[in-house]
Amino acid sequence: MPPSGIADALHRLIPRAAPATPSHAPNHSTNFLVSPNLGEVLVGPDELKRRVRELAEAVTADYAGKDLLLIGVLKGAIFFLADFMRELDLDCEVDFMAISSYGSSTRSSGVVRILKDLDAAIEGRHVLIVEDIVDSGLTLQYLLRNLAGRKPESLEVCALLLKPSNSQVPLTPRYVGFEIPDRFVVGYGLDHAERYRALPYVAALDE
Ligand code: 5GP
Repeated sequence: MPPSGIADALHRLIPRAAPATPSHAPNHSTNFLVSPNLGEVLVGPDELKRRVRELAEAVTADYAGKDLLLIGVLKGAIFFLADFMRELDLDCEVDFMAISSYGSSTRSSGVVRILKDLDAAIEGRHVLIVEDIVDSGLTLQYLLRNLAGRKPESLEVCALLLKPSNSQVPLTPRYVGFEIPDRFVVGYGLDHAERYRALPYVAALDE
């Protein structure tokens, strides 16, 4: 486990996303994405930018001098991962896994299936899983067990969003962007039936 002074301080300061009314939604050009089902903006573009930078600063400090491998969880984490990796002041590598998630429903089934595995072995590596959102925690629990079995030197999680009220397993990612209420959210990589990923903010989906 890497040194954690900054990470611990950061964790105590996880912002609680404060819902804005839809009228506060940023004015952007992705009009094709506007849908009557889009509800409150829970995390706006500026907050996302600022927090991603803070997370990257903490990870940069914690992994200084170490050989870091980021594991992006497809597809939801791609926007976060791309922004986060570019803010890191580290020479790190990236690999991807794809796992089954909700499909077009909005509740976790708890059934996790690997659709695409890592390209390379992680034995002896410092590994940081980069996740979009932790809801029940079942997916993350499965991933952590699976990857721990491959004997990395260290294994930690950086999740952009966490729904603490929905947790079904006793694990908290080391790095968390925002705690959000138990709402189904889309945007910044998160989809509903493959829609809304390109929204530059995280919004609740009203169904
Ligand atoms: P968990 O196993 O923690 O319940 O769910 C984790 C996965 O479910 C996430 O990686 C994501 O794919 C999906 N998920 C959970 N909550 C949400 C949500 O609010 N919005 C979207 N788009 N996906 C979610």
